[in-house]
Amino acid sequence: ATHVGGDTTFSHIISLVEQAQETRTPSMRFLQRFAAIYTPAVIALALVVGVLTGDVRMGLTFLVIACPGALVISVPVAIVAGVGNLARRGVLVTSGEGLENLARADSLMLDKTGTLTTGEPHVVETTGDEALGLAASVEVASEHHLARAIVAEAQARGLVRQPVSQVEVVPGEGVSGVVGHERVHVGKTPAGTVPVESVVARVREWENQGLTGVYVTAGRTMVGAVAITDQVREEAAAALVQAREAGVKQVAMLTGDNPRAAHQVASHVGIDEVHAGLLPQDKTRLVAAAQDSGRHVIMVGDGINDAPALAQADVGVAMGGAGTDASQTTADVILMTDRLDHLAHAKRVARKTTWVMR
Ligand code: ADP
Ligand code: MG
Repeated sequence: ATHVGGDTTFSHIISLVEQAQETRTPSMRFLQRFAAIYTPAVIALALVVGVLTGDVRMGLTFLVIACPGALVISVPVAIVAGVGNLARRGVLVTSGEGLENLARADSLMLDKTGTLTTGEPHVVETTGDEALGLAASVEVASEHHLARAIVAEAQARGLVRQPVSQVEVVPGEGVSGVVGHERVHVGKTPAGTVPVESVVARVREWENQGLTGVYVTAGRTMVGAVAITDQVREEAAAALVQAREAGVKQVAMLTGDNPRAAHQVASHVGIDEVHAGLLPQDKTRLVAAAQDSGRHVIMVGDGINDAPALAQADVGVAMGGAGTDASQTTADVILMTDRLDHLAHAKRVARKTTWVMR
């Protein structure tokens, strides 16, 4: 069965690369139009030259000199070479247009969890086993990184999960489901929750340390909370330096997490523009706003909730390993090995490729 998985991924990669090599980029379209007008014009001019000078050889010489063959052929060849070079590094460019947009891009926006961090978070602290066990009972139904951390920790502590029904996932907010007689919610506090001072204070404390605090509520009752942390990717800070060297002028973080955890990671990797507490549509709006101010935006994300922002961006980049299918199908570029520094490399290759074309 392992072979099937490998083959499927492999054939998926092949089809993506083929698709990229077949698509027409704007400059290819231009050249096609150009060739359609230029070629007959040159032939006509060659005839005129031949007739005017009365010398057939002059006409032929003109034809050879003016022939645009090298130009018309060089663009597709450059694209195929660029896409192929990157594929060998595990960077899949799914369209020729993606390559041109990558070369031009001057703004880099990144999701935090799963993108700047490894997406393998773990539970650091809880207000107690009751909250953790209840949270795990609901989180089994979620594919979120935080959900996996909560389920794993409950398992490690030997807590028994209760049956859950009517599960609802709210992207950027959390997940809920009916456990026993009550709707249990895990994530940000839902409206109408009666706050418990000790729990709220504890979460504040966690967030000040840069942790992600997740509330557990049952009905309107605040049961407790769980503190989760995620490791920043080793190469993240260097990758951003390289991206700036490759022509990126603006770097921003777009995250659904709390501002304190966001700033912690941001200062660690060297980002000073931070937008936190965002819903998926806020991310899309911020990408569009940057575009309206004349920027060409690369958006890097991993989650289902990042897919709309990836689609909005000039270049959508999805994480290959940590990323979800939804983010990958909307992406122009997929980092198969999850290495953020490959993005700067890709941008350099894209610039060289488009330089060859010009
Ligand atoms: P990011 O933008 O950093 O990838 P998300 O948009 O996925 O983050 O989530 C934003 C916030 O919403 C999380 O920090 C968490 O507070 C809450 N959240 C979302 N999904 C879940 C879940 N399944 N369990 C607990 N909390 C969640
Ligand atoms: Mg994410």
